[in-house]
Amino acid sequence: MNISHLARKLRVSTDELREKLPELGFDIGEKAIKIPDRDAGKIMYAWRQYKKRQYLDSKRAEQQARAERKERVQSGDAEKVQLPSAMSVREFAEAMNLPIAKVMQELMRAGILASLNERIDFDTAAIVAEDLGYIAEREDGSSEEDADTEGLDTLEQALSDEKKENLAARPPVIVVMGHVDHGKTLLLDSIRDENVVDTESGGITQHIGAYQVKRKDRELTFIDTPGHEAFTVMRSRGAKVADVAILVVAADDGVQPQTREAVDIIKAAKMPFVVAINKVDKPEANPDKIRNQLSELEIISEAWGGDAVMVEVSAKTKQNLDQLLDMLILVSDIEKEKIVANPDRRAIGTIIESHVDKGQGPVATALVQTGTLNSGDILGLRGMNYGRVRAMKTWDGHDVKKAPPSMPVRILGFKAAPSIGDILEVPESAKDLEKLKAQPTRKAGVQEMTVRKTAGDSPSGEEADAGEEKVLLNLIIRADVLGSLEALLGMIEKIDNPYVGVKVVSKGLGNVTDADVLNAEATKALLLAFNVKPSPAASTLARDKGVDILEYKVIYKLFEDVVERLKILIPAEQVYTELGSLEVLAVFQKTDKGMIIGGQVKKGTIEVGATARVMRDEQVIAEGKIKSLQSAKVDVKDVQQGQQCGMEFTGKAKIEVGDVLEVYKEEEQARTLEVPGA
Ligand code: GDP
Repeated sequence: MNISHLARKLRVSTDELREKLPELGFDIGEKAIKIPDRDAGKIMYAWRQYKKRQYLDSKRAEQQARAERKERVQSGDAEKVQLPSAMSVREFAEAMNLPIAKVMQELMRAGILASLNERIDFDTAAIVAEDLGYIAEREDGSSEEDADTEGLDTLEQALSDEKKENLAARPPVIVVMGHVDHGKTLLLDSIRDENVVDTESGGITQHIGAYQVKRKDRELTFIDTPGHEAFTVMRSRGAKVADVAILVVAADDGVQPQTREAVDIIKAAKMPFVVAINKVDKPEANPDKIRNQLSELEIISEAWGGDAVMVEVSAKTKQNLDQLLDMLILVSDIEKEKIVANPDRRAIGTIIESHVDKGQGPVATALVQTGTLNSGDILGLRGMNYGRVRAMKTWDGHDVKKAPPSMPVRILGFKAAPSIGDILEVPESAKDLEKLKAQPTRKAGVQEMTVRKTAGDSPSGEEADAGEEKVLLNLIIRADVLGSLEALLGMIEKIDNPYVGVKVVSKGLGNVTDADVLNAEATKALLLAFNVKPSPAASTLARDKGVDILEYKVIYKLFEDVVERLKILIPAEQVYTELGSLEVLAVFQKTDKGMIIGGQVKKGTIEVGATARVMRDEQVIAEGKIKSLQSAKVDVKDVQQGQQCGMEFTGKAKIEVGDVLEVYKEEEQARTLEVPGA
C-alpha cells in the first residue's frame, strides 16, 4: 500500500504519518513510498491506539490543570482579576483574557446558562473565576450596588425628578412567573394569539422578547421570555422591569419549588400580582387545593377573605383569559400612581433581547420605560455611544418612528450588540457620551460562535469534516431566545470525542418551520425544539415525512438526549490481541473450507476461534480462522507454547510446511462517551 493512501485512510498528512511512524515502532525509512500490506493493518491499529492515548492524555491534563488551578486559588498564589459589580459574560472573559467559549463552558459547569451579552453579578463571576484559576477582586470604587443599579438609579431619578403634571399613565408591564410546565409559555402564546389584530398592513408577529395587547382600550405589555426562567440573573431583572406579575400555578399539580421562588421575588419586589390557576380544563384539576397551598405562603384568595386575586384559567382552551386581563388591569390600577412616565422626554429603557443578526448586524429589543424613543435618536448605553436608531419594529412587525413608554421595540442601528439588562438612555447630545471603544470581540463573539458552528458545512451536503474520521450526528436546533440557543451550542461544543461528533446543520430562533422539517429529512438530522413549538404546517409535514420533532423545556434534558444518541452511534472498538505463533510442521489434508495441519506453538497460547495470519518469508499471504484444535488427539480450547497440536484451519490459504501462523484475537469492545456535564 502507498503511504499516501494509508495516510488518507487515517486522515492525516503523509508527512505527519511518516514522522510519527518510528515513534509507533515502524521503521519504514524516511523516503519509503510503499508500506508492506502486512504492516498496514498494524499501523492502522497502532495509529488509532495512539490517537486514543492522545485523547485520554488531554483529558487527564485537563483534570490535572483544574486541580492545580484550585490549589493555586486556595493558596492565594493565583492571578488576581479586577471585576466590576456586574458585567456581561463577554466582559468577564475579557477581564481574564480567556476565550469566551471557555468561560461559557465554565459558567455552565456552575449551572449558569448565560449568553454572551447577558450580565452576571460579581458574586457569580467570582466563583467561576476561581474555577478558572483566578482570584476575583472588586474593582476600586465599585461597591455591591453601583454598576448594576446605576442605570436603574437614572431611571428612578428621572421619574422622581419629574414634575407631577408631566407624568402620564402608561401600560403596565407584566411578567409571567411560575414552575416549569405549569403553562407559562402557552398562556403567553394564547394571550397573544387571542389579541393579534389582523390589520391590512398585516405585520408578522415576531418573538422580540415582549408584546402588547389591548383590552377595553387599555394596553398591556407582556414580557414574553419565560425561557429566561433558566437564568436566575434575568429573573431578578425581569422583576425590575415589570410592574405586575402573573403567578401561574397548574391546578393539576400545585405549588412547586419555582412557585415558591416566584412568590419570594414578588413579595421582595412588592409587586402587584394575579394568580392564574391554570389547566382547569383538566379533569384532575383542583383549584381549591391550590388556594389552600397558596394560603400557606400567605397568599390568600379574595374568595377566602384575603386580598390575592386569583383567576381560574385554561391556557389550552383559552377559558377566562379575558377575565385574567381584566384582573391585571384591576391590580395595575391599584398601583396606578407608580405606573406612569413622561412621554415627552428623552427615552430611557431596558434591553430585553439582543443578538447579532447575520444580515442586519446587532439587533436588540428595548422596552421603553420613560420618554419616547424616536427614529434617529442616539443610543447611549453605559455612558457610551452605541449608534443611532435606524429603524424600529413592533412585536407584530410594524415599522414605527416613535416608541412611547412601555412599548417594546426591536431596534436596528446598534454598532455593537448590547447586553440583556443594559439600560438604554438617549443622551441630550452625542457629546455627552464616550465613543464606543473599538470592541472587535464584542461583535466577533457571537459571530465567531456562529461561524465556528457552521464551519465545515459544505453546500453539497457531503460529509464535511473530512479532517476527522468521525460519525457525525446532524442537528437542527430551534430555540426561543438567543440565550438558550447559545447555551445549547456551548454545551454541544463540549462534546469532544475522536469517534463521534455533532454537526449543527441549521439553527435559529422561533418556532419550527416546514423548511426545518424538509431540511431534517434531507440531512437526516435530529430536529430539536427548545421552548418552541412546530408551526401547524411543520407538524403536518413532519407527520407525512416521518420526521420526529423533539421538544424540550429543559436544556440539560435536550443535551442528555443528544449524548444518548451519540452513544448509540459510537462504533465499537476493534481490539486486537496478539496471542502467539505456531510453526507449521505438517499438512494433513484439505477440507471444504480449509485444511488440517499440525504444528508447534512457538510463542504464547493459541485459541480456538482466533484469527491466524499465514506468514511465509515474513510476508502475510493470507488470513483464516482456527476452527478447532487437538492436542494428543483430544479436542482442546487452547494450546500453549512448546506444545504440538493439530488444527483445523478455515480460509483460502494453501498452507505449506515451514509457514508460521501468527495468531491474534479480534474483539469488539464498546466505547464509552464521556461528556462533562452530561
Ligand atoms: P411552561 O414550562 O410553564 O412554559 O409550560 P408550557 O406552557 O410549556 O406548558 C407545559 C405543558 O402543559 C404543555 O404541554 C402545554 O400544552 C400544557 N398546558 C399548558 N396550559 C395548559 C392548560 O391550560 N390546559 C392543559 N390541558 N394543558 C396545558
